[in-house]
Amino acid sequence: MSGHLTVVGLGPGDARYLTQEANVALAAADALYGYGPYLDRVPARAGQSRHTSGNREERTRATAALRHAAQGARVAVVSGGDPGVFAMAAAVCEEIEAGPESWHALDVTFVPGITAMLALAARIGAPLGHDFCALSLSDNLKPWELIERRLDAAAAAGFVIALYNPVSKARPWQFGRAIERLRVHLPGAAPIVFGRAVGRTDESLNVTTLDAADRIQADMATLIIVGSRETRVIARNGRSPLVYTPRAASEINA
Ligand code: SAH
Repeated sequence: MSGHLTVVGLGPGDARYLTQEANVALAAADALYGYGPYLDRVPARAGQSRHTSGNREERTRATAALRHAAQGARVAVVSGGDPGVFAMAAAVCEEIEAGPESWHALDVTFVPGITAMLALAARIGAPLGHDFCALSLSDNLKPWELIERRLDAAAAAGFVIALYNPVSKARPWQFGRAIERLRVHLPGAAPIVFGRAVGRTDESLNVTTLDAADRIQADMATLIIVGSRETRVIARNGRSPLVYTPRAASEINA
């Protein structure tokens, strides 16, 4: 019997964001691997084993799942959002590349999910309506200097920037430094959107400006979208504002 490994995106939170394909993949698995809070979102099914691991244990989780699949099991590794965005899909690929020949022959699939920046964008309008990029502010796997260089380049080039992993207990100052870098390139009035726990019952949204960004508390469950010079806010009487980036860009912002 040949095993199978699937890396499944659960979307940002609530079950209504789980795709049909993800649901089918989860139901077909003999074993589920993932970070505890993500596995908690998957309903229990008879005959399915669960293998919970910590947030920073992607590597050991990937190798354990691959080993299990290589023994002939149907294994699903779960990620929040999309598994290919700062998550388990790349971790699994890294371990396959470094692993034994038998792992190269494994049947492996990837099931996309709604990533946090798309879930947040949909809440407030169309901030990603024109060119954008996504950056992780975590310096666990790359040097901080590289993050600053990429922030500089992205802001100077006029991209809207989605910031993943803005803050954690172990990384308290990085977000403040990122804001300082962005202020070098962007006007204080540039719109910034904070979305915390988007798609969950405790969701909170904040539309502010680069000038006032320090006043909003960000944490590990927060995604931030930094507007470009083109990004606009439509104030609406009695309704929350719409934030959008028009489809036509007029100038080079460097
Ligand atoms: N694979 C995930 C991202 C993992 S990195 C995805 O595609 O969404 C973890 C970071 O994602 C968090 O620090 C936060 O910045 C962001 N994030 C994940 N889920 C979120 C949610 N529901 N609301 C806001 N941000 C979220």
